[in-house]
Amino acid sequence: MERIDGHTLLIGLMAYPIRHSMSPTMHNNAFAKLGLNYAYLAFEIDNDKLEKAVDAIRTLDMRGSNISMPNKQNILPYLDKLSPASRMTGAVNTVVNDNGVLTGYTTDGTGFMKSLEDENLNIIGKKMTIAGAGGAGTPVAIQAALDGVAEIDIFNRDTDPQWEQAKKNVDIINKETDCKATLHSLTDQEAFKQSIASCDIYCDATSVGMGELADLSLVNDPSWFHKDMIVFDTVYAPRETKLMKIAKGAGVEHVFNGLGMMLEQGAEAFKLWTGQEMPVDYICDLLFKDED
Ligand code: NAD
Repeated sequence: MERIDGHTLLIGLMAYPIRHSMSPTMHNNAFAKLGLNYAYLAFEIDNDKLEKAVDAIRTLDMRGSNISMPNKQNILPYLDKLSPASRMTGAVNTVVNDNGVLTGYTTDGTGFMKSLEDENLNIIGKKMTIAGAGGAGTPVAIQAALDGVAEIDIFNRDTDPQWEQAKKNVDIINKETDCKATLHSLTDQEAFKQSIASCDIYCDATSVGMGELADLSLVNDPSWFHKDMIVFDTVYAPRETKLMKIAKGAGVEHVFNGLGMMLEQGAEAFKLWTGQEMPVDYICDLLFKDED
């Protein structure tokens, strides 16, 4: 409490529902650790309150906000500027207020790339296969393309609403980056198998592997994997998904869940607001110390 005084700057989280979020704990502990005079609070905001809530960022001279569902796309018309990745994905998860000018960013993709860098893995110039084109798959594919991944095969179920988003992702990557993107339906299992056989990183950015889909994996045959590839599941609860178990069983050296991506997307936002590096290892220990 001693941290909060008349100069404390407010950062928000605007989403609905939101009370379950770990972000307030993450950011407030990081501010305290670094002695930064900010406070981070969650606000239950859905579509009908969004415009006024965004205006409040300016009115209250807040430093910014995180934005989550259902507001990530609906917020675009209320902002003044967008980062290239935000414009290309059509989504925002972080707002920065610079003297009343609100800029939207998306840090899920940069968080994904940073989490690989943390493991000393470099996918620039390489080939990615990604399943999923929703809130996670879209920024991951677009940031990978912006950062210099050479080739991306995007797979999605052609019956899901995200199929249309997958088409947009492929179009914009091919139009605006040097990466070659190709779209496939997940029903084309032969193409899926071939793509994984020739890729350097397979990323599952679908909802498969968590919740009621926890017992499922999009890849069930370990022979589809090769040992020197990266297998990345954006799911972080459970910590080890069925896909990860199969990949480890196949002897794949680099197998990750989405925890590093989740922490690093927060760290990217933290840096945009404060200019400082979030103490990621400290926060990781604090939030997940009860785990092995
Ligand atoms: P979303 O609802 O926007 O998209 C869901 C995606 O999963 C779509 O591409 C859809 O076609 C696909 N899908 C759903 N059921 C499927 C099935 N049975 N078979 C094949 N494909 C299926 O969701 P999202 O926000 O993109 O989240 C996707 C995953 O990413 C979730 O598991 C979520 O936990 C994870 N995620 C992780 C982070 C992180 O920081 N690590 C951030 C965001 C989301």
